[in-house]
Formats: sequence, C-alpha cells, structure tokens
Amino acid sequence: MKNFQVAIIGGGVIGSALAWELSHYKINVVVFEMGSDVASGTSKANSGVIHSGINSPPSSLKARFCVEGNKMFQSLATELGFPLKWIGKYVIAKDEDEIKELERLKTIGHKNKVAGLEIHDGLIVKKKEPNISCIAGLWVPTAGVITPYECTIALAENATENNVRFLLETKVKYLKKKADYFVIGTNKGEFQADVVVNAAGLNCGEIVSMIETPDFQIFPCRGEYLVLDKTYGSLIQSMVYPIPNKELGVLGVHITPTIDGNILLGPSAEFIDDSYDTSTTKEMMKTLFQEAREIIPALPEDTAINAYAGIRCKLASQKTGGWADYRIEESKRNPGLIYLLGIESPGLTAAPAIAKEVTQMISRRMNLEKKTTIRIQAIRRSRFSEMSLDEQSTLIQRDNRWGRVVCRCEQVTEAEVIDALSNPLNAQAFSSVKYRCRAGMGRCQGGFCTQHIVRIMEQQFHKDVKELKLKSPNSHLFIGNVRREI
Ligand SMILES: Cc1cc2nc3c(=O)[nH]c(=O)nc-3n(C[C@H](O)[C@H](O)[C@H](O)COP(=O)(O)OP(=O)(O)OC[C@H]3O[C@@H](n4cnc5c(N)ncnc54)[C@H](O)[C@@H]3O)c2cc1C
Repeated sequence: MKNFQVAIIGGGVIGSALAWELSHYKINVVVFEMGSDVASGTSKANSGVIHSGINSPPSSLKARFCVEGNKMFQSLATELGFPLKWIGKYVIAKDEDEIKELERLKTIGHKNKVAGLEIHDGLIVKKKEPNISCIAGLWVPTAGVITPYECTIALAENATENNVRFLLETKVKYLKKKADYFVIGTNKGEFQADVVVNAAGLNCGEIVSMIETPDFQIFPCRGEYLVLDKTYGSLIQSMVYPIPNKELGVLGVHITPTIDGNILLGPSAEFIDDSYDTSTTKEMMKTLFQEAREIIPALPEDTAINAYAGIRCKLASQKTGGWADYRIEESKRNPGLIYLLGIESPGLTAAPAIAKEVTQMISRRMNLEKKTTIRIQAIRRSRFSEMSLDEQSTLIQRDNRWGRVVCRCEQVTEAEVIDALSNPLNAQAFSSVKYRCRAGMGRCQGGFCTQHIVRIMEQQFHKDVKELKLKSPNSHLFIGNVRREI
C-alpha cells in the first residue's frame, strides 16, 4: 500500500489548483482522477470567465474566494503560460426596472471591493458594442476570460513536474478511517494518506457517504452552450450578460468571446436528476439562440459549430431558489478529511484562493515546509498558427513535422500533436490532444484530423488502435474490424 501525506480526490480545477499549491511544499501528494485526463468534469465545460465578484452576497465564501481568486489569476497565467484576457463585461438593462438591478449589482460589487464599476447609458454601450441592444449597462472591467481546461491542465502538469502524483483512470471506491490515517480503495488498489481532500465536484456527496452520512444533497443543474464559428468572433468585444435570474440562482444566458476567437452562447439552467447527463438538446439550442437574440438582435442563424453542456453542483434546490454558499470544512467525525462542497460558479475563478485556504487547513495538521526550488515552466505549447511566417519556416527547416498540418481548421501541425501526446500527465485520450493543441476544435470538429491523430498515436506512440479512447476510460474509438482480415 503506497503512503501519501495528502490525497486529493478529483482532478478538476479545484483538485489541480490545490495540487499545484501543495507542490510548493516538501510533502508527498497524490491526486486520484477517475477520468482519462484532468478537467474531465465541470472544469472543462463552463464559460471560462474570471468573474469579478459582483454577483455573490458580501461576506459569503463565494464572494470572498471569487474576489481573491480574480486577483491571483494574472500571476498564475503568467507563471504557467496559459492565456488570459481582461476583456471586461457588460451586464445590460432592457428597461427602467432592470436599471435598478444594475444599481443593486454595483452596490454588491462595491461591498465586495470590486474596482472600476460604472453604469453606462445605452449610447455609450452602443459605441463600444455596436451590435448590442440595451438602454444601459453596468461595465465591469475586472472580468476576464481563460480557456478553463488549459488552466486546469497547466496547474496539473506543473504540479506533476514538481512531484505531485496524478493517477488518471483511478476511481475512488471506498474510504476507511484508521487510527491516524485513511485507507483509500480504488480500482488500482489501496492507498494510504494522512489527509484526504474531497474535491470530487458533483460526486462530493458520494465520497462523503463512503465514510459518514452526508448532511446535504447535491442538486445537479445543467447548462448547455452553443459555440459559434470564428467568422462571427467580432460580433462583440467584451462579455455581455443579462440581469441574473434570481429564481434559479444563475447568471442567465450570456455571450462570451473565447480566448481562441469563438463566441459562446449560454449557459441554460435546467435542474436534472442525473449529474452525468451532459446531453445537449435541440429545444435548448433554439432557446439559447432566442435568448441570445435579446442581446444581439442581428445574430445570424446557422452560426453554431458545436454544443456542449456542464453541470452545476448546487447545494440548493430549484424550490429554494438554487443559491447556497460553498462549504469548505473539515469533517468533525473524521478529522483529516476535508470537504469542498457545492463548488459551483464562480468556482473556476475561486480555485487558486480555495487552494490557499485548504493549504492553510492542511498546515494545521502537518508541518508544511516550502521547497527551496520549484520547476516553473510555461506549459503552453507554441501554437504554429500564432507564429510569424519567419518563425514557422525556421521551425519547419529544423523539423519537418512542423510543416505537416494535421488539423486544417485550426492549423495544428504534427509536431504539436506529438508534443500534446508527450504531456507529463501521460494523458493519452483523443480529447487530451484536442484540449492541449486544439486539433479537432475547428469548423469540421475532427472530421479531417481524427485519422491523422490516430495514425500518429499508432505509429509514433505504438498504441493499439483498439485501445484508443475518445475521452474517458470506456469511450473506445474503435470497437472491432468491419471486415475480417485475410
Ligand atoms: C455551466 C457552467 C458554467 C460555469 N461558468 C463558470 C465561469 O464562467 N467562471 C467560473 O469561475 N466558474 C464557472 N463555473 C463553475 C466551475 O466550472 C466549477 O466551479 C468548477 O469547474 C468546479 O471544479 P471542481 O474541480 O470542483 O469539479 P470538477 O471539474 O467536476 O472536478 C471533479 C473531478 O472529480 C473526479 N471524480 C469524481 N468522483 C471521483 C472518484 N470517485 N474518484 C476519482 N475521481 C473522481 C471527476 O472525474 C472530476 O474530474 C461554471 C459551471 C457550470 C456548470
């Protein structure tokens, strides 16, 4: 049985941020992730917004960690090399009543110490965002965008380089408390740890019930999105939000420019029974378009190239208004077991601040001594498509794999696919390539590059095609031969 001082259950942005924070200390840490890569759950399927802190009630944990996390993101992005753009956001009002809501949000923002908030009249908004229809807008300059899975991958990969163990495709199945340690049973055997952190997102209740009776319930709430083709990327420059929906405890269908030049419409909000049901529906796609048109009336039809859904991990039901604060606490019955419950939006923004808080909690149970050296390396791979012609030709002369374009839509080369597959986590699913170098994320959604990536996996990484997975342990890309071999 392998011993660790800290075991983290879940390699989403919360588990990965904590792993990264702990990688700065002289302790041995393991992360169990049941998916084939980090960011397998909600952390890959959200809006990617670094929120400012105007939406959560002052003195809530959500407000505190959102504002603290927002301030930490610039240095995190610089250190780890993932892109972050402070494009700001407008919350828009369609009538006089909604202007009162803008005032209310501004007051909350002031109480939460969010800087730079201003209410602009419709003409000023129109000057900045000519395609928007509104009579006024609350301008929030401290809101930004990142690519959420890139951030999670960067945290996890850098933590790995600083000796945190990430065990992928390793599902925690049971937990037992011994005198002063825990036994963690997984599909890959038993492990031992002094402190266990439950960062299992939507499965946080399942983990708690392995060792005690949960005093809470999770209410999954699905949010669907549409991704628009890059051709429409210039429709807006900043994020545009409606007045938040108070009945459901969500921010409403907003329009978000992504780091890579697409536009997101969404998310919807639908309480569901199954926390794994990330299906997207035709009806909701129609609704998303309709609601987005309230913000951009001239939004053209047939602009979407993809749809996805993420599930909110809510501690409050639809009946009770859908809003509850985070619960970040140590179990009273099982000291050493730390729970992170209900980490819904703004969880991505809050992740680095939550990681610092949990590190403080861990320091009360063990001596945390800082390492003297840390490997800090910008994880982000150089993107061929973003290089100058001179840079591109220098690379091609050095290594002709830079000259072989594998994904035509996103201009991703064979060298980049190989680099993505050589990641420190040893994540080898098809989606691991996609989330690291964008192959398969363009207009044809993998129609062209899939066969080339399969070839590279087979020829250069000696993979058996029947073992190749799309994104999760059981999602085999190929299930058998169409013809019998002669
Ligand atoms: C629609 C939507 C939009 C959002 N937009 C934003 C936004 O713009 N900005 C923002 O700040 N926040 C946003 N959020 C919130 C944010 O995405 C989440 O708070 C955050 O991703 C939660 O991260 P996590 O690590 O707790 O959960 P997850 O990402 O779900 O990670 C939990 C991990 O635990 C693993 N796991 C579960 N059970 C086990 C087990 N038994 N053994 C091993 N592994 C296990 C899962 O596979 C998963 O990878 C949004 C959320 C949603 C749903």
